Amino acid sequence: MTAIRKSDVLVIGGGIQGSSTAYHLAQRGISVVVLEKDTVSRHASGVNAGGIRLLGRNIAEVELSKAAMHMWHQLDDELDADTGFRARSLINVAADEADLNTLRSREQQMHGLGYFHEVMLDQQELRERLPHVADHCVGGVVSEQDGYAIPFHSTQAFRIAAERKGALFCEGEQVQQIRKVGDSWLVSTATQQYQAEHLVNCAGAWADLISVMIGDNVPMSYSAPMLMITARMPHFATPVVGAVSRPLSFKQFENGTVLIGGGAKGFADRANNTTRLDYSLLASGAHNAIEFFPIMKTACINRMWSGLEAYMPDNLPVIGKSVRSENAYHAFAFSAHGFQLGPVIGQVMTDLISEGSSRFDLDPFKINRYERKVL
Ligand SMILES: Cc1cc2nc3c(=O)[nH]c(=O)nc-3n(C[C@H](O)[C@H](O)[C@H](O)COP(=O)(O)OP(=O)(O)OC[C@H]3O[C@@H](n4cnc5c(N)ncnc54)[C@H](O)[C@@H]3O)c2cc1C
Repeated sequence: MTAIRKSDVLVIGGGIQGSSTAYHLAQRGISVVVLEKDTVSRHASGVNAGGIRLLGRNIAEVELSKAAMHMWHQLDDELDADTGFRARSLINVAADEADLNTLRSREQQMHGLGYFHEVMLDQQELRERLPHVADHCVGGVVSEQDGYAIPFHSTQAFRIAAERKGALFCEGEQVQQIRKVGDSWLVSTATQQYQAEHLVNCAGAWADLISVMIGDNVPMSYSAPMLMITARMPHFATPVVGAVSRPLSFKQFENGTVLIGGGAKGFADRANNTTRLDYSLLASGAHNAIEFFPIMKTACINRMWSGLEAYMPDNLPVIGKSVRSENAYHAFAFSAHGFQLGPVIGQVMTDLISEGSSRFDLDPFKINRYERKVL
């Protein structure tokens, strides 16, 4: 065992949340070490669908997501890198009158709260934006600022920018034990000990295990959302596409390939870092795509994969301070929509560490929100 490595902050997890946190900390001159058990971007942050979505966010997340969206639009300049971000808009398609009613209630709710970024489309406007949409589709809703980015490039961009500002990333370093010694956290891997005043848990699908080491219990689960990508097709869709009430989402990249998602889940084995695909669910995802876009009948699926993702029962992440330990912070369980939030989460963690608070309302994301209240 070599000498203890010291820093102001230790971040556990080299996904987009850990890498963004390291970037923002280093930018403010705070020394930071990131411990990653595998390699940076190896898990959800490197293999996700790249959707940069503000549309349809849970109300609790809208402010965070709006701030993150603003950052995505300037991120390549900020990080001096190519994240692959493209602002293409995102349209959720309404298949029938019931879907339109859902959109009308949502519109009323959003306008009542002062949010106007989701704009309803009638059938003709939908067809103008998506000429290949199926005849039965009756309208939709669009968020103009939305789009996609390339996940692996984006996460690496944060890592490289963080390293340029002095952050240290240690790969192949699995955190095995966490102890409080005086005012410091002492963290052990198989070969090394690390010491810091502050500790940030960005451990993705393994974050509940880290939480327990810090003293916080949390009803987190994990799963393996799946994706598939086609061979190149003639260009037919510029916006990213979702459906109001069906598990469908897809985007056509500039090279013509179409990435199809929608939340279908395979089988997760986090102890072994692996997942297995559920081919019957993938097939029904492909059928949904054909139902909304008949041109997809000609698609040839080229590759399918899945990644490990953490979920909370309410599908909202855990973001904020530990409730049991001083100087410990959590950012995990993004429930299959955390990539878009990445840029702002690093800023939130840095504010919590350096200023003790965040400008965002983090109450809905408290780690102890499921604890039974004692009356
Ligand atoms: C297939 C799929 C599609 C998705 N599509 C989208 C999308 O279109 N848009 C969107 O916004 N979001 C999407 N998501 C969700 C998004 O990818 C995640 O919410 C986000 O990447 C989570 O980032 P993270 O940094 O918290 O986790 P991760 O990327 O999982 O990073 C956590 C890291 O912690 C490390 N770690 C864990 N335990 C330890 C330990 N003991 N010691 C050291 N390191 C440890 C892990 O190895 C891992 O690298 C999707 C997810 C998947 C799987």
